[in-house]
Amino acid sequence: MKPRYDILIVGGGMVGATLACALGDSPLSVGLIEHDFPQAYEPQQPHDLRVSALSAASRTILQTLGVWEGISSRRLCPYRRMKVWESDESRAATEFHSDEIGASELGHIVENRVVQLALLERIRGFANVDLICPARTEHIEYAPGSSLVRLADGREVLGRLLVAADGGQSRVRQAAGIGVTQWDYDQHALVASVQTDYGQQDITWQQFTPTGPLAFLPLGGNHASLVWYDKPDTLKALMTLDDTAFLQRVQDSFPACLGQIDAVLGRGSFPLRRQHAQRYVAEGVALVGDAAHMIHPLAGQGVNIGLLDAAALAEVIIEAQALGEAFVAVEVLARYERARRAHNLMMMQLMDSFYRVFSNSNLPLKLLRNLGLGLAERLGPAKRKVIRMAMGLEGKLPALARGEPVIRE
Ligand SMILES: Cc1cc2nc3c(=O)[nH]c(=O)nc-3n(C[C@H](O)[C@H](O)[C@H](O)COP(=O)(O)OP(=O)(O)OC[C@H]3O[C@@H](n4cnc5c(N)ncnc54)[C@H](O)[C@@H]3O)c2cc1C
Repeated sequence: MKPRYDILIVGGGMVGATLACALGDSPLSVGLIEHDFPQAYEPQQPHDLRVSALSAASRTILQTLGVWEGISSRRLCPYRRMKVWESDESRAATEFHSDEIGASELGHIVENRVVQLALLERIRGFANVDLICPARTEHIEYAPGSSLVRLADGREVLGRLLVAADGGQSRVRQAAGIGVTQWDYDQHALVASVQTDYGQQDITWQQFTPTGPLAFLPLGGNHASLVWYDKPDTLKALMTLDDTAFLQRVQDSFPACLGQIDAVLGRGSFPLRRQHAQRYVAEGVALVGDAAHMIHPLAGQGVNIGLLDAAALAEVIIEAQALGEAFVAVEVLARYERARRAHNLMMMQLMDSFYRVFSNSNLPLKLLRNLGLGLAERLGPAKRKVIRMAMGLEGKLPALARGEPVIRE
């Protein structure tokens, strides 16, 4: 007999695992298939290369699901200030402070693996959720109401609702025949994990240059993550340098406020793509996270909008189940798409405008962005709105992001 789940989620990254948690303790059976179990956490381990700025809304979702404790007990770094400025002599700059909206912090920098570990650990506590991991997916057969996933070890698993949480190259999305609109940015991101001369910092900053932003994200103690956005060839060349030469290039190119870098502990380069699925749902299938949308990471919003997807989809499924509606029906799933698509599109377009307006040396655009940065600094209400938006607190939020559980006793 093949196991048959009400909800079969393919991909146990941060978004798929959040959805599985959100459906934990519901009357529905849930299967979560993940290729690789993340490496166990040890406090002495070096920081991972892949880190994310989690918004206040993401924190609330993870807190409501009982996952936050698993993150904060391991490793994270709160940041209270966020500063953006131009590299030229204009000195136009904006600095946001959590005090401006009476919050204790603007967000947290976390290692992706720590978030995933905390989520997978929480999933073990739910009797209705099976974690199928490690599991190589060999074949996906989309059939509305009874989709099949065949694993490399020969096991077959069925799902009434198949959920694509398998990232940008989603095989589930392809199996369901859902197309995408996409293009590659003429910019890659080089991420470097470094040890600085400064102690713990509470600021994340970004300096805009004509070839792309240079960003600083604080980690615990004197550790930090640097992101260097630039032309693919430039970053390719930087990746070939030895550590000493690379460190020198960082010191030469990053602004003076970076201070002294004592060591580069790791680096990796990532191509950047903008991609949006033509639909988030079809009969018996739904897309969440990067499987549905990939956005430019310059404002650190990708996983944050993915967690909002997971929260919104869980809410639609649980409510439909409680009302006796068929949660696999496309008309029901369309409520999820209506709740999320416009917001995600707006976020994508905003990131595109930042990318276009800031990554060039065109004079009128330069004047415009300097004006924008100066105005943003001076206009209190507008500034507070931008802060709330970056924290994921603007617009209609799903219940979990408001701190309300979707599973009620
Ligand atoms: C340089 C860079 C910096 C970023 N910084 C930020 C940031 O600061 N803040 C932010 O919000 N976002 C950031 N992002 C974006 C963020 O990393 C992504 O949006 C997020 O990881 C998407 O999560 P996901 O779970 O949807 O997909 P993924 O992280 O891609 O996870 C997909 C999971 O599915 C598994 N999988 C895939 N295929 C299968 C299969 N067939 N069977 C089983 N398992 C499968 C994979 O192993 C993986 O665990 C950044 C992105 C980049 C490139």
